[in-house]
Amino acid sequence: MVKKMGIEDLREAWDLVIIGGGITGAGVFREATRMNLNVLLVERMDFAWGTSSRSTKLVHGGLRYLKDGHPLLTKTSVEERERMLKEAPGLVEQVGFLMPVYRGISPGKWSLDIGLILYDLMAHEKQHRFYDTREFSALTPHLKRKGLAGGFRFFDAQVDDARLVLRLINEAVAAGGCALNYTAAREILRNDDGQVAGVVIEDTETLEKKTLSTGAVINATGAWGEELHPSPDRKRHLRPLRGSHLVFPRSVIPIEQAVTIVHPADNRPVFAIPWEGAVLVGTTDVDYKEDIQKEPSITEEEISYLLEAIQLFFPSLDVSEDNCVSTFAGIRPVLSEGNLSPSEESRDYVVWKYKGLVTVTGGKLTTFRKMAWDTLKAAKAFLPPVRFIGRRDPVFSPVPDRIPEEDFGLSAQTWRRLYGRYGEAANELAETATMADLKPIPDTLTLWAELPFAAKHEQVRHLSDLLLRRVRIGLLTPMGGKEYIKRVQKLCESSLPWDRKRWKQEIKDYLDLWRQSYSIPNRKKQE
Ligand SMILES: Cc1cc2nc3c(=O)[nH]c(=O)nc-3n(C[C@H](O)[C@H](O)[C@H](O)COP(=O)(O)OP(=O)(O)OC[C@H]3O[C@@H](n4cnc5c(N)ncnc54)[C@H](O)[C@@H]3O)c2cc1C
Repeated sequence: MVKKMGIEDLREAWDLVIIGGGITGAGVFREATRMNLNVLLVERMDFAWGTSSRSTKLVHGGLRYLKDGHPLLTKTSVEERERMLKEAPGLVEQVGFLMPVYRGISPGKWSLDIGLILYDLMAHEKQHRFYDTREFSALTPHLKRKGLAGGFRFFDAQVDDARLVLRLINEAVAAGGCALNYTAAREILRNDDGQVAGVVIEDTETLEKKTLSTGAVINATGAWGEELHPSPDRKRHLRPLRGSHLVFPRSVIPIEQAVTIVHPADNRPVFAIPWEGAVLVGTTDVDYKEDIQKEPSITEEEISYLLEAIQLFFPSLDVSEDNCVSTFAGIRPVLSEGNLSPSEESRDYVVWKYKGLVTVTGGKLTTFRKMAWDTLKAAKAFLPPVRFIGRRDPVFSPVPDRIPEEDFGLSAQTWRRLYGRYGEAANELAETATMADLKPIPDTLTLWAELPFAAKHEQVRHLSDLLLRRVRIGLLTPMGGKEYIKRVQKLCESSLPWDRKRWKQEIKDYLDLWRQSYSIPNRKKQE
């Protein structure tokens, strides 16, 4: 688990310093600790605060990339999806996707079929199937019938993105790495030859600084990558693209499997995906013009865009702003020459190397491991001699595949979910909880007991870290879980060293942040 430590406790010399605690940094961190490197990760906000807690939460090949002419990206992603399904059950789980075919609307049946055949070939398994109109309507009864000519079902996978980052960080720390949140890299130091010699880091709250020595720095700061390492290709720069989601209760969009619809305005796919007891609707893809240092938020235009698609394709459901539980927005790190529309931009990643500084940006959650390998390979010359471990070795530590003898009344499904999120530590989580806290928080799959456990073991500095990223009740329950805050406080008081005044302030800050960046903007009833 991530130990509580400050920068004053840090040693000065490191084999490798990783900047950025999203999925990219966490992936490199985990792989570097498997090579027995002496490695530090710093994140200037909270772990997974950036794009890695704001994705569509799919571990997927990306059918769209096939159509857009990036078959290698799809192939790599499908391979990674298959690995993660095997290695991280309970965290990465298969999800069925339904894709309707409408008469006269592209993509048609044959082009979809060809794409899905290729998809299956990449996974070495025939998984997709066509259903006629009657069968397809039975699978998704609320979908628009007019013009429906049947549809396909295929499979991808989904994840809790922030917990994926936390699982990697926790396991890397257990293997000897060190990770600090709320710690920014302020300057990369170089010697007379221009080689990386160290990094100046700063605790973003106490403002305490420390100079570290290292010969290798990985810049895994996603959309912020060019702040530390300007693009070596003067024609290609990071283009921040915002993607936003709406979250609805399952009772409002009662679907058992994900549904892909084609937006009538621009033919982009829009997904409705069951996730953690709720349904996510997304995403958008627009240039992000605001201050990139601020927490991104959905705009009214994006809300209208997403609602237009859902209301059109689910005409019998009452889906509106009023029954939306929460919203969230993230910024894609996309390398661009600036002449394509947002959705035409490649989602592949780049690795830049300059005298000990290796930058890795772009890409997807799904391909984090391949990105980590390519990054460490690029950094090899600046690292002490280490043996690279096998690419086929599992990245996650194995977890039990059956429930423990003392099961605390939890179902096999719940154990699977806990092991997926907390690894072996799930046992301690259950052992140290009361029976009352081993129950789910209403409308979610999250157990109350996850809160005190994360508060104690996972370097929580603020209430928002706990409710938005360690668990996701900030996205899944009305008003960010406002009605549960007293119980959260009671459960976590002994682990978080906050007096009454600090608790009051934390609650206020959290609810203000929630209203500003996770709710429907300007919604009237926000009290
Ligand atoms: C709307 C949307 C939907 C998506 N859906 C999917 C999906 O379903 N599946 C998929 O595979 N991919 C998806 N992606 C892509 C995926 O989410 C991103 O590629 C991935 O999260 C990027 O991770 P990262 O670690 O590179 O960046 P981030 O997660 O943004 O992490 C970078 C971190 O660096 C930190 N940082 C910046 N500067 C400093 C500094 N000086 N010092 C210390 N720390 C610093 C930031 O605070 C940040 O936390 C989606 C992206 C978006 C926007």
